[in-house]
Amino acid sequence: MPQTFSYEFDTPAFKGKTSFSTGLYINGKSVDGIDGETYDVVNPSTGKVVTNISMGTSKDIDVAVKAAREAFSTRWGLNVPGAERGRLLMKLADLMDDCADELAAIESLDNGKTFGWARNGDIVHSIQTIRYFAGWADKNHGKVIETDDSKLAYTRHEPIGVCGQVIPWNFPLMMLTWKIAPALATGNTIVLKPSEFTPLTALRMVGLIEQAGFPPGIVNIVNGFGSTAGAAIAGHPDIDKVAFTGSTLVGRKIMEAAAKTNLKNVTLELGGKSPNIIFDDADIDQAISWAIHGVFWNHGQCCSAGTRIFVHEKIYDEFLQKFTAKAQSLKIGDPFGTDVYQGPQVSQIQFDRIMSYIDSGKKDGATLHLGGARFGSEGYFIQPTIFTDTRPDMKIVREEIFGPVGVVIQFHDEDDAVRQANDTHYGLAASVFSKNIDRALRVANRLHAGTAWINCTNSTNTQVPFGGYKQSGIGREGGEYALANYTAVKAVHVNIGMSI
Ligand code: NAD
Repeated sequence: MPQTFSYEFDTPAFKGKTSFSTGLYINGKSVDGIDGETYDVVNPSTGKVVTNISMGTSKDIDVAVKAAREAFSTRWGLNVPGAERGRLLMKLADLMDDCADELAAIESLDNGKTFGWARNGDIVHSIQTIRYFAGWADKNHGKVIETDDSKLAYTRHEPIGVCGQVIPWNFPLMMLTWKIAPALATGNTIVLKPSEFTPLTALRMVGLIEQAGFPPGIVNIVNGFGSTAGAAIAGHPDIDKVAFTGSTLVGRKIMEAAAKTNLKNVTLELGGKSPNIIFDDADIDQAISWAIHGVFWNHGQCCSAGTRIFVHEKIYDEFLQKFTAKAQSLKIGDPFGTDVYQGPQVSQIQFDRIMSYIDSGKKDGATLHLGGARFGSEGYFIQPTIFTDTRPDMKIVREEIFGPVGVVIQFHDEDDAVRQANDTHYGLAASVFSKNIDRALRVANRLHAGTAWINCTNSTNTQVPFGGYKQSGIGREGGEYALANYTAVKAVHVNIGMSI
């Protein structure tokens, strides 16, 4: 029998308890992994173990896929009307609302993000996502298509089948809802693997999924490592579709494995190195506040982080001075503390990775303008860090660092800004700051990115699509566009008068 994890939060931000099973959730039951192994979950604020949880391998993925296939054929898919799928999702959203503080506290404990952002950002957005797609469940219709009088042609939007979903650690619950909500609304069944670094909110969701009344086998959650459980999902011959959010490196492996087995349908949400262009006619104070949010929000662990900040040469000195002062004022510390803006990075691995990028910036000759060091003596905290005097070929300018590290670069004119901004193999997001709407729209159109923000950064809505150009991904999550990720279109031709 899997252990139960019980924890009492006694913090300034939240006082209360949580308790849930640490097992794998397969076919409606919480079970131990077949190999009986477990692994440690670490609190990034202290580096200490919080609990250990069951570890799934390819054997457990096999069992989960069988359960999901059976559920798809008998208890979900085309067997259940959209209105009923929507009702269950609405119920799930209501249950999440009832324990929103608890979910936020678990997220802060596991990921290190501040309780305030977790509660008012991640959890609110996650609940909105479930509700939004619940609304679509009975509205994803096909079309009647005009041909000629001897034929009736129409399309049906059918579920794809069993979907494998692999998610990262930076927005653990949000990424889970971005995956399960559109998949369930459109009638698919799921085998989902959370990140090994942040499995706890997914485990808490198991109880809510059961309580909402989803029959067994529709949602299966298998914790485990990427190279074992994750790879088993990507390469499974009986999974019809894989949806992945994570690094471009792993996205490539997912696509390769999918191609080599059954050519399963693939959607990918990958990394970024987003530009943020600030013109001399911008509202400079607002541009600075949004630039801070762009690069340092969620401790820089954000796929769309505006890490390359391009500033017009006329306002460069003023911008840099005020931006630096604001970055220096950000309070770092316990994610449950009052007024804390920045908690720890998620893991020792990420901490080491970010510090090695900071070293590479120094070695390559960039100026370390601010930060660049560990904060405190325990946990994985890093000071907000700014580099200047960079060159386009430096690693800190080209590669995704995924930490609180930005580069500030000058530009001369619009063409120069667009050229430098587009000089990347990523294309997830981009921002433009200008009070001249003609210029802002013109530049937004010229940027190669799936999201272009004008006079804001890192602002997403569940109704609006999100996804990448170039090596930042394939497909769109969010909004009506996400339904296509989980829908197979069948064309039906009815002969009403053709003879042969
Ligand atoms: P990661 O690629 O290391 O891991 C993501 C997930 O893939 C984890 O669950 C991991 O266990 C699994 N995985 C690892 N190796 C695997 C393999 N060989 N086969 C199958 N699965 C495997 O990414 P991460 O460090 O968890 O997250 C950070 C990355 O995610 C960043 O690059 C970030 O930009 C990206 N991200 C993108 C979006 C987006 O919407 N575009 C959103 C959030 C995060």
